[in-house]
Amino acid sequence: MALLGDRESRLLVDGKLVAGAGGTFATLNPATEETLGVAADATADDMDAAIGAARRAFDDTGWSTDTELRVRCIRQLQQAMRDHADELRELTIAEVGAPRMLTAAAQLEGPVEDLSFCADTAESYAWTTDLGIAAPMGIKTHRTVAREAVGVVGAITPWNFPHQINLAKLGPALAAGNTVVLKPAPDTPWAAAVLGELVVEHTDFPPGVVNIVTSDDHAVGALLSKDPRVDMVSFTGSTTTGRAVMSDGAATLKKVFLELGGKSAFLVLDDADLAGACSMAAFTASMHAGQGCAITTRLVVPRERYDEAVEAAAATMGGLAPGDPTKSSTICGPVISARQRDRIEGFLRSAADEGGRFACGGGRPADRDTGFFIEPTVIAGLDNGATVAREEIFGPVLTVIAHDGDADAVRIANDSPYGLSGTVFSGDDERAAAVAARLRVGTVNVNGGVWYSADMPFGGYKQSGIGREMGLAGFEEYLEIKAIATAAQ
Ligand code: NAD
Repeated sequence: MALLGDRESRLLVDGKLVAGAGGTFATLNPATEETLGVAADATADDMDAAIGAARRAFDDTGWSTDTELRVRCIRQLQQAMRDHADELRELTIAEVGAPRMLTAAAQLEGPVEDLSFCADTAESYAWTTDLGIAAPMGIKTHRTVAREAVGVVGAITPWNFPHQINLAKLGPALAAGNTVVLKPAPDTPWAAAVLGELVVEHTDFPPGVVNIVTSDDHAVGALLSKDPRVDMVSFTGSTTTGRAVMSDGAATLKKVFLELGGKSAFLVLDDADLAGACSMAAFTASMHAGQGCAITTRLVVPRERYDEAVEAAAATMGGLAPGDPTKSSTICGPVISARQRDRIEGFLRSAADEGGRFACGGGRPADRDTGFFIEPTVIAGLDNGATVAREEIFGPVLTVIAHDGDADAVRIANDSPYGLSGTVFSGDDERAAAVAARLRVGTVNVNGGVWYSADMPFGGYKQSGIGREMGLAGFEEYLEIKAIATAAQ
């Protein structure tokens, strides 16, 4: 089977691939600006049908208690994705603008393999805990704690790592026994819609368990946060939208799980290999054109070596010209849309207006007149109060900030409304660990360690989110806890 053979995708509602009542909308290649094809454009009625189907599948079938079926279906979906890896790879490069090399990691193969963790966890999980007999208030009672699926989950996702984020929600939510309505970003509808095709053609998922609703209209996704039939919303996206989801969910007191924005710091202590650390920070900030929520975009370096640090970062970033994502050597591809490119350019103007200087980059590359490209850019001469140091840019932009010692570096890192991630580099592991322990963030890289893996929880402190994705903590987000007290003789 060729995925999206007719270059038009469908919704998955109640086990069937169907057209959207709103017609279709185009999906673009951000590297060429060409239209790839169209996706089904769902309306409120389509969303209503999807939520109804998910509700019935949860309430009226044995899905939530049939662990063997759930594990089998997840493994079937994983195998179908492996079997279609070549088509999925080309689709991801074309629609997301993801550099080819990243499809061997977090843009495709990583999250597909991570589904094993979800299936394995469901198989080995202790769904009940026996607390034994006690006599609270003098009444002899046998106590059991059971963990059960939350119910219908609305999953709302962004465009930057669509497979990673779609699967990091579908995998644990389904493994835990929930039914799901997935609403992906309008910029990357196909990355989600292909899952619908694979579910229908290659798995035993019962109708209504997985629903995929693509739409050009954000308001269709917002219905998930408002509908009383939805028990939980699992959202990844900007902090602004996260606030709207939380506030919409308040009317029905939904469980709301939020993975939001970041403005993470890369701290270089005065005993570190400065050039090596700055080069690594520059490389990281350029990857996938900086469109990663946990990318460290503030490089915080010893004041006395500030110029040297800027030079090292610019030497690396200046050498990473944005390029064709189909090439296996490309690190920095396009940003997702003209809107996103314009937004980044606005931040670059603010940096210049506030007295910053570009040590490399600073705008669109001169040699590309099509595609949404931005040059990897190092900004120097600003402090942590500058707009580019406060706000999430979501482009290949690194701001270099001076610190006056370890305590000051920690103060700067924590002086942010966000708390998603951080990095510490030092020649002394203990010193680095002590600084890492003081960071108010959900993930931290110490001297080059990697926190991203299926069994590690990922998420943010402060305005970077509520809850954790992946790992056991990510699985348990999708569970309720029931305390059962049975009168004993
Ligand atoms: P976005 O917030 O604009 O959109 C995310 C999703 O929310 C899309 O599917 C969109 O259609 C939907 N949406 C928009 N308005 C809505 C509303 N009122 N109610 C319900 N849904 C609504 O984000 P984006 O531009 O697609 O993605 C970039 C953002 O995502 C960045 O801020 C980035 O940091 C964040 N992000 C966070 C993580 C994380 O795990 N913390 C991971 C990736 C991306």
